[in-house]
Amino acid sequence: MQDYLDVLTRAVNEWMPEDRPASQAPPAAELERILDVSLTDAGADQQSLEDAVRAYLHYNPAVYKSDFHKLLYSGQNKPALLGDWITSLSNATMHTYQMGPVATLMELELIRQWNALVGFDRDDNPAEGVMVAGGSQANLIGMMLARHHVCPDFKTKGSGGRTLVAYVSDQAHYSGQKAANVLGIGTDNLVAVASDEDGRICPLALQQAIDSSLARGHLPFYIGITAGTTVTGAFDPVAACSEIARRHDIWLHIDGAWGAPILYSKQHRHLLADSHLADSFTWDAHKLMNVPITAAVILVKHAGALKSCCSGGGGEYLFHADENADYNLGERSIQCGRRADSLKVWLSWKAVGNQGFAAKIDYLQTLKASCVNMIRQSERLEMLAPAAYVNVLFRYHPEHMTDEDELRRLNIAICKTMMNDGGAYVDYAQYKGRYGIRLILANEEVGEDQLASLLALCEQTGRELADQPRLAAIG
Ligand SMILES: *Cc1c(COP(=O)(O)O)cnc(C)c1O
Repeated sequence: MQDYLDVLTRAVNEWMPEDRPASQAPPAAELERILDVSLTDAGADQQSLEDAVRAYLHYNPAVYKSDFHKLLYSGQNKPALLGDWITSLSNATMHTYQMGPVATLMELELIRQWNALVGFDRDDNPAEGVMVAGGSQANLIGMMLARHHVCPDFKTKGSGGRTLVAYVSDQAHYSGQKAANVLGIGTDNLVAVASDEDGRICPLALQQAIDSSLARGHLPFYIGITAGTTVTGAFDPVAACSEIARRHDIWLHIDGAWGAPILYSKQHRHLLADSHLADSFTWDAHKLMNVPITAAVILVKHAGALKSCCSGGGGEYLFHADENADYNLGERSIQCGRRADSLKVWLSWKAVGNQGFAAKIDYLQTLKASCVNMIRQSERLEMLAPAAYVNVLFRYHPEHMTDEDELRRLNIAICKTMMNDGGAYVDYAQYKGRYGIRLILANEEVGEDQLASLLALCEQTGRELADQPRLAAIG
């Protein structure tokens, strides 16, 4: 074992340096040429394994660095990393209490805490939940619970010719489509309801979409609203959508994969007011909370709903009726073997407390406000969407450039050039037909100076590229 621990120590101390570019992977075809990942009949020695590990880290983007702004997480959550290592050491699995006793108690405590933050847990209402392999799966289970609520016999008999219709906004995450596909709803029966200028679902358009489904004899069953949209961080209005959901007895799900941690902050939780009005809720701990991927949960206001919806029978060989039956989380899940994701989340939560996460949100919101100010004060940068959360979508706009397609190409080129030159790693995104630079402020090690340099680099790169005729060549 010591040999392997030595490799881990070297990986942490030597192979993840601060002074490397956030991204340094060549195109796939080139990496295939320079790196040998072939498996062979004969086994290899320790040195070959070590070399492979080193190359793996070398070409992987440096997600741990503060100039990595591409994804919805950045930096290193050390207690959670320790938890991830220990989870693998234990190789616990989560179908029964027996196979992961402490992991089970930790998962139940996390679910209680999350439900308290969302407002599902009240004296007169025991809520529940189960950890899942990512926000996409949480949204899938949310839609499945909705289907089970409106058609309990869909599980055993199938659709029976009924057309079920689900509603999300045109800014919702694409996992809604995957869920509609997997659950046999049909992706054409997932309606993308118009959002307003701020990227929030329009309740009036939602009502109209439902009316039009009803007029066709279809069955509206699921409203999925988003807390923190992926591109601009918009929060859909919960109360107005809840009213519509109640009127038609439609399940209301909130996708908080990205924005849920706002609930830690007394100062900012108003963005997600009324979350308790929903029926189910998605929370990713591997996004803003920066727990190593994957760590996510589906929270449900109605205890018993998960087992009734997810259990399929045939598991008697695993789920022996004993004194631990209430602790066997497997029957709430669509998985059999399930990684014990609770430890890494629990350790990081224990280390910083609710206050630590609140402080992170408050800091990042302040940093975001300075960032938006700097963009507004710059002559050539402009915001493309309001920044309610820590997504800042902006673009570089040269004085005489009016053509939208040219602006799109220029801003995509800015992102690619900065990445290739070893500068900050930002991505581009499209919002309401316009393309810009999507800057995610998820790393609390970023300070205002670093941010100012990043914006200056965007401007400088934009200026240089705009002067070059080769911009026309970028598709
Ligand atoms: C990231 C994201 C998801 C998907 O979560 P995964 O954990 O990546 O599966 C769903 N919804 C929103 C709003 C997201 O930002």
